[in-house]
Amino acid sequence: MKIICVGRNYLAHAQELGHDKPTEPVLFLKPDTALKRKNLPFFLPDFSKEVHYEAELVFRICKNGKNIDERFALRYVDQVTVGIDFTARDLQRRLQQKGLPWEIAKAFDQSACIGEWRPLSLFRIDDLSFHLTRNHKLVQQGNSACMIFSVSQLIAYASRFFLLLEGDLLFTGTPQGVGPVYANDILHGYLQQECVLECVVK
Ligand code: MN
Repeated sequence: MKIICVGRNYLAHAQELGHDKPTEPVLFLKPDTALKRKNLPFFLPDFSKEVHYEAELVFRICKNGKNIDERFALRYVDQVTVGIDFTARDLQRRLQQKGLPWEIAKAFDQSACIGEWRPLSLFRIDDLSFHLTRNHKLVQQGNSACMIFSVSQLIAYASRFFLLLEGDLLFTGTPQGVGPVYANDILHGYLQQECVLECVVK
């Protein structure tokens, strides 16, 4: 299983990190070892002093595909949830300044947190709202309608480079409002109005 992630897919978030609107999806991968196990806290890693939450819609790939046509791309996802792409922002900034790859800032152990799956058939994929609270205060909210690249476009684009396999995960980018987490924080992720993710920080 691999985790395909998209950076800068909401304009306001790209701008808050000082980037222009991308003309093509910005993709990166996390290994399966980055998936945080359910019911375990997220432990702050010792190599960063600035770990950020990034709440994102996450889709589960339900069948294998390569060079998928955008028109048929939604046949390749069957479930959705809210996830957190934990990011060591200080490390990422340092690496970006040198033009180096981001992996150690983005793909470290436990950096991919996902909530409970819900069948996509319950929702309109082009109008899916989600939000994140930190210590019960709203910090991020987004809607798939505001993505720069739609889920279909992301699947089509990613499958040109990476063979998609059943069970792979697609993190679709975070809206504005990213920020740091601290020990004993509690994060809750909501899909529409339903809480599907709880994550304690230690
Ligand atoms: Mn992200």
